[in-house]
Amino acid sequence: MSLIKADSAFSLTRYLQQVERIDTMPPSGRVIRSVGLLIESQGPRVGVGATCDVIGRDGAPSLTVQVVGFRDGVVLAVPLGDTVGVQPGDRIVARGRARDIGVGPQLLGRVIDALGQPLDGLGPVATVGTYPIHPPPLNPMERDPVCGTFVIRERAVTIGSGDRRVYFCSDVCRDKYRARIV
Ligand SMILES: [Zn+2]
Repeated sequence: MSLIKADSAFSLTRYLQQVERIDTMPPSGRVIRSVGLLIESQGPRVGVGATCDVIGRDGAPSLTVQVVGFRDGVVLAVPLGDTVGVQPGDRIVARGRARDIGVGPQLLGRVIDALGQPLDGLGPVATVGTYPIHPPPLNPMERDPVCGTFVIRERAVTIGSGDRRVYFCSDVCRDKYRARIV
């Protein structure tokens, strides 16, 4: 029997990479209580903002929840779907970091839920990119000094260089700022 080379015509590289990424033992815990819009569980050991799946029993669909806090060693999570059927002892499995949702011009005019799933019955949304549900907070220092608007670095009009960079919402504000300091 010959060994299959990873770089042969039937390359296994892609599959080997996928296998390496699979989390075979995701942290998991058990649901102990569900009150109103809060699901409490013993574990998994995850941080605030993490998403988990409550695995339904008897073929019930799994429910995605988001961890919002802790109390006395108990994980507190809010459901991002219908909690009907959740039972004490249900397995709750960490999904890793907070989810990304699909974004793009295809979303214009559509109605979606908190996880980006369409609610308007118009079929799937073929988005072109993804964006994290919890993006990193904006740095308050990146504020247009002329109009006071918070600006996103990548999209801002800037002057200066390095740490001395100043961010503006538009050419108009940049020109006003320049006129002031000259
Ligand atoms: Zn401005």
